Amino acid sequence: MAFDVKTNSLAEYWMPFTDNKGFKENPRLITQASGVYMTDHKGGKVIDGSSGLFCSPAGHCHPKIIEAVHDAMQMTTYVSPFGSSHPLSFALAEKLARLLPEDFNHVFFVNSGSEAIDTALKMVMAYHSAMGNDRTRFVSRERAYHGVNIGGVSLSGLVNNRKSFPAVMPNIVMMRHTWNADELMVRGQPQTGVELAEDLQRAVDTFGGQTIAACFVEPVAGSTGILAPPVGYLERLRQICDENGILLVFDEVITGFGRIGGKFAADAFGVTPDIMTMAKALTNGSIPMGAVATTDNIHDVISDKAAPGAIEFFHGYTYSGHPAACAAGLAALSIYEDDDMYGRAATMSPYFLDSVYQLRDHPMVKDIRGIGMAAGVELKSNGKPGQRGGQAQVDLFWNGMHVKFTGDCGILSPMFISEKSHIDEMMEKLKKTLDGLT
Ligand code: PMP
Repeated sequence: MAFDVKTNSLAEYWMPFTDNKGFKENPRLITQASGVYMTDHKGGKVIDGSSGLFCSPAGHCHPKIIEAVHDAMQMTTYVSPFGSSHPLSFALAEKLARLLPEDFNHVFFVNSGSEAIDTALKMVMAYHSAMGNDRTRFVSRERAYHGVNIGGVSLSGLVNNRKSFPAVMPNIVMMRHTWNADELMVRGQPQTGVELAEDLQRAVDTFGGQTIAACFVEPVAGSTGILAPPVGYLERLRQICDENGILLVFDEVITGFGRIGGKFAADAFGVTPDIMTMAKALTNGSIPMGAVATTDNIHDVISDKAAPGAIEFFHGYTYSGHPAACAAGLAALSIYEDDDMYGRAATMSPYFLDSVYQLRDHPMVKDIRGIGMAAGVELKSNGKPGQRGGQAQVDLFWNGMHVKFTGDCGILSPMFISEKSHIDEMMEKLKKTLDGLT
């Protein structure tokens, strides 16, 4: 496509979560990508250290996904999902159900992680309503990121994401986050901090367990810097939920599909929630799609209480289970299985983490947290939160590597197809960039 940053206008596109002015003064456009590499608009080669945004473990522009989407588009470019469908949606739901923990036999399709969270919220509400429960409170956690729709932003524990939007949902109780300033450079699950799960018990003691509908957690908080749960923490949340009839929702938008070990965090930590959200790697990032999966029990309560012939769950999106997305999802899941992506992630993780933790004594580095194929490298602040991280992201790009920074924390999440030489290249570029920071 003929597009030139010097002659075309960059003004009209309002970029999400971006310093638009800064970006447009120093634009960084990707014009081509393949495997672990991308090409920028000046022709530079950029290694992808973030799998896009945790999206593409099997690499950019995977030919099998392109072919599957192309074939699906030949079949049909759109089918209404309300009261009609197409074979690919059923096939993908079945394939996912086989991958998910036992009993997770029901999959609802959406178009993003944010929609998955708002759908999960409504699923929780529909369940309690069908049960005749009067539970209107939700428990979430500081530093949680659950997307940007009103439900998700209400559950998110990020001040910046909420400060311009005061009219969020009421009745959200926040647990404390699990980052411990006295225990830096933790690799894997922190050994201390299980008592933080008692924040859920305190909410039960304060408000009454029978008023709480659900507890939402990212098993590993991803966007806010890779915070793995303390040993025993998720188990204790599960126990408190069970004792009080509270549903446990795992937001697996980042942790799903092998990112932190196991196929899902539920497998990796051996704790099964009642509802799981997913997106991103579901289609290897190729076509927007998310999903919410739940158990026979929750599905049946919602469905069975509906009058015969009635719509069971009064919810859905025009593009739920779009043929292109289903085809991409089916192809992605086949690649993950056929090319043993889960095994590759597990095998590469120790090498990746050994490499990242070599930065522990770098004068710019404050903390490193890593698990599986994800690591947060938090830089020392220069007093203006996020400024050094923002600079690092730009400098790193021009040094030939893409990494997403949130605030001052670089979020490394390499593709599972990355070889050791790719990890070495990433570390070299990262170190060079950190050396150049002031
Ligand atoms: N939940 C989690 C845990 C996420 O990390 C994200 C996105 N980073 C979302 C929800 C929202 O996903 P989306 O941007 O696709 O709406």
